[in-house]
Amino acid sequence: MEEQFIVSARKYRPQDFYSVVGQSSLTATLKNAIKTKHLAHAYLFCGPRGVGKTTCARIFAKTINCQNLTESGEACNECESCKSFNDQRSMNIFELDAASNNSVDDIRELVKSVYIPPQIGKYSVYIIDEVHMLSSAAFNAFLKTLEEPPEYAIFILATTEKHKIIPTIISRCQIYDFKRIEVSDTIEYLKYVAGKENITTEDEALSVIAQKADGAMRDALSIFDQVVSFCGKNVTYQAVIDNLNVLDFVYYFRLVDMFFAGDVVNSLLVFNEILNKGFDAQNFVSGLSSHFRDILVSRDQSTLPLLQKSENIAKQYYEQAVKCPLPFLYKALDIANTCDLNYRTSRNKRLLVELMLIKLCQIVESSKTQDTSSKTQDTSNKTQDVSNKTQDTSNKAQDTSDEQQPATVNAVEVAETPKLPNLAQVMQNSGFHNALTPKIDEAKPVENEQINEPQTENQTENINHNFNEIQLVEAWQNFGNSFDDDFQKNLIISISPKKEENLCIILALSTSQKDFLTEKKSAIERFLQNELKNSEIKLKIEINEDIKPVVHYSPEDILKQMTQQNPILNNFVAELNLQVKY
Ligand SMILES: [Zn+2]
Repeated sequence: MEEQFIVSARKYRPQDFYSVVGQSSLTATLKNAIKTKHLAHAYLFCGPRGVGKTTCARIFAKTINCQNLTESGEACNECESCKSFNDQRSMNIFELDAASNNSVDDIRELVKSVYIPPQIGKYSVYIIDEVHMLSSAAFNAFLKTLEEPPEYAIFILATTEKHKIIPTIISRCQIYDFKRIEVSDTIEYLKYVAGKENITTEDEALSVIAQKADGAMRDALSIFDQVVSFCGKNVTYQAVIDNLNVLDFVYYFRLVDMFFAGDVVNSLLVFNEILNKGFDAQNFVSGLSSHFRDILVSRDQSTLPLLQKSENIAKQYYEQAVKCPLPFLYKALDIANTCDLNYRTSRNKRLLVELMLIKLCQIVESSKTQDTSSKTQDTSNKTQDVSNKTQDTSNKAQDTSDEQQPATVNAVEVAETPKLPNLAQVMQNSGFHNALTPKIDEAKPVENEQINEPQTENQTENINHNFNEIQLVEAWQNFGNSFDDDFQKNLIISISPKKEENLCIILALSTSQKDFLTEKKSAIERFLQNELKNSEIKLKIEINEDIKPVVHYSPEDILKQMTQQNPILNNFVAELNLQVKY
């Protein structure tokens, strides 16, 4: 079986523009140029490795020499010229790999051959791969030919590093930028190859391969080959992660559930299990960060394309995203990212990661402690309602395990059972419906109405004391996002407000930040009062003494410091009537 399996990267190299994966707009342009006979003498193909630059150059050479173009502008693959190209015996194509042949002599050799006209076909095509590797002397030797090439000569220069190409070359070329191939495109193509080879595959398995290939089809195909030689005609997710030493994403899903449950013990045990399997701790941490990021982009239809996972996995992300409110994700991302940044310099790396896990388990915990006091108040309002619902509740207890479907548990149950609610519950119970996708609301429409009815009556007279710090943070972020000016927006978003009763405490990082916020104080208060439905919210702005203002210097701060060091600057500012620009 292994003998039969030819390296698919070579076997499935595209033969026409149509089968080039993931570069459709670029190949359409090239095809059109050939059709309308608008050919340039020099092309520069730029882009990462393995995305099809050389392949496209070869197809281009074949197509412009084809004696019988198809209606769609592709090479016919049947005429004498096409056949000679496909058999790799065409005299109309010359390839030079500048990575290994970068001397002046190599280029002189090539230049000499340029002046011999083609015997068959119309064009001679010269492909110079990794052209940025040419020595500067070689570049110069080449430049003259590039400036005045014979009619029949066409150059295609390919490079992974466009910035290393000297301007005199760039200005003489038509430039095509190849992009990384999307994971979904890679998966589709691997499926096609697998189908041709009678290999069965799991989507998750192909997703892992595509992700590992990082946008390079050539890599995807050779990883695929490797996996097939390892596990035969049935490519499963399990076989792929074992063979490629990839950490099973199931771990991350399980861990996030543990963070919700505040389950420190089990999250530490899972980490231990991961280490025992021989995985690197830092990979684990950055994988966890990516997982949070992936959940974040799964929350919204508009960012969903950024997820880049197979359909099945995307569904699992969506399901977890439903349970994760934004403030939790922001905080979790921050914690994981900080750990990642500190990892290299840490002396006790294992402890660092364990601390991260503990902190992640405490996100929900800390929001809960703030919330429970206000909730006992809340339940008294609802006691009337309980009797109506007890019937309903007992039915439900049987068919839903709380952990899997946390959002279906309602406020009354939470207060009655000593079991601690998770963040999703806390959020929804305190009116945080926005953070949860409609899916949950749809799931229990009747129940929601029942809860909401008595509440709306109360809300007209009562002030909502129920907001918690996470909601405050989100309201604060919303306030920041209402600014068009990026500087002001970032200034606000960079601060995390603290909650104390009805006080929103802001720790400014500098005096100018404090001044800026004080100026906007009443607007901020109004915004927060509105957003959190509590007219008693007040703002308290203090300077954060713990943090030295390193990162958040405003232009004003900088000027102040500069003039302190150099008072003459003041005259300068006054005389030219200079203004600080925000
Ligand atoms: Zn042909």
